[in-house]
Amino acid sequence: MRRRVALTFDNGPDPDVTPYVLDCLSRHDVKATFFVVGNHLTQPAPAIIARSARDEGHWIGNHTFSHKVPLGELDATKALREFERAEQELEWLDQPVRLFRPYGRRGAIGPHLLHRVVVERLLSGGYTCVLWKSVSGDFKNPDGWMDTALADCRSREWSMVVLHDIPSGAMLHLDGFIRSLKDEGMELTQEFPPDCLPIVRGEIVLPIEGYCAS
Ligand SMILES: [Zn+2]
Repeated sequence: MRRRVALTFDNGPDPDVTPYVLDCLSRHDVKATFFVVGNHLTQPAPAIIARSARDEGHWIGNHTFSHKVPLGELDATKALREFERAEQELEWLDQPVRLFRPYGRRGAIGPHLLHRVVVERLLSGGYTCVLWKSVSGDFKNPDGWMDTALADCRSREWSMVVLHDIPSGAMLHLDGFIRSLKDEGMELTQEFPPDCLPIVRGEIVLPIEGYCAS
């Protein structure tokens, strides 16, 4: 059985780090997904970089507008606003499947992730909600996350590595990490493992209660 790995990059675009990541992915002919923070796209350089990523075949997803408070800890109006303002910055996106990843606060999974009004919006808009099973911790261990991530990839048939295209220094190891995955015969795929997708194209396909506060 060939193990499969999907790479995702959260919290960008960053004017320095994201182009570096794009170059690395291009060298390895790997397509990935960038979950972008809406308010970064109000700046010209990150907005251009997000479009380049799209042009190079990567997928782009909404990762909230301000990325400060998990949706489940906001009132309905503010939670919906976090989603919609990021969508406004992504109006140019012409992707067949619209993607959303909530803000988790250092990767935590739990009922703080989603708010009922946003779930309703994901359903009515035909969105796919992309969560995660584990995080590599690249943001807190920029020089050692690769071992954690690699061990995780070995332990699952199909895994998703959650990385961050932010100036932590962690992405300096991306090239070596992709080489290790390839050396171990793993297939890099853009498709997400189904156990990370509670909502697919506007349909709830996994129990959502554990991810939704209200
Ligand atoms: Zn994030």
